[in-house]
Amino acid sequence: MHVLVLGAGVVGVASAWFLKQQGYDVTVVDRQNQAGTETSYANGGQISVSHAEPWANPSAPLKILRWLARSDAPLLFRPRLDPAQWRWAMAFLKQCTASRAAYNIRQIVNLGIYSRTHLQALRQDIGIEYDHLERGILHFYTNPGEFESA
Ligand SMILES: Cc1cc2nc3c(=O)[nH]c(=O)nc-3n(C[C@H](O)[C@H](O)[C@H](O)COP(=O)(O)OP(=O)(O)OC[C@H]3O[C@@H](n4cnc5c(N)ncnc54)[C@H](O)[C@@H]3O)c2cc1C
Repeated sequence: MHVLVLGAGVVGVASAWFLKQQGYDVTVVDRQNQAGTETSYANGGQISVSHAEPWANPSAPLKILRWLARSDAPLLFRPRLDPAQWRWAMAFLKQCTASRAAYNIRQIVNLGIYSRTHLQALRQDIGIEYDHLERGILHFYTNPGEFESA
């Protein structure tokens, strides 16, 4: 079977690699003339498996309201008269309850641990070299409430 992967970012390229390992013929197509030139190009490069807090959590709605007026907010939400945006916002809000956030944290941790195991195996299989460090990540909290909650 021949599989066509749309998008040559980290997700498309990794999917193509594992499909190929399973014996499929794979072609990766991208609208850019090189792989990895969009989101995958300039991210923070952190493999923060245990940083599993979902954006949708009980403190998010109030934070997002405060961020509406800031152009440099970490999560930009610009309300428009677009039904798709409001459907997305309602779906996001539904995931902000404590029980949904706890459920989603468990899913993210499981997915993160699974991904890390495969990333380690992949690094070994293909011998890829990059400026990789395993020293953990330091988190600073300037607010006692957020520290307790973390
Ligand atoms: C500022 C920032 C910091 C981040 N920091 C981290 C971090 O520290 N650690 C971490 O794990 N993650 C981080 N992320 C998230 C991470 O970068 C993304 O989750 C990841 O790169 C997404 O990969 P992707 O392959 O899904 O998307 P992309 O890399 O965007 O790949 C999608 C590809 O699809 C192509 N494409 C789109 N539409 C079409 C079309 N119609 N036809 C053909 N091709 C198309 C695009 O050209 C693109 O190449 C960060 C993201 C941002 C924005």
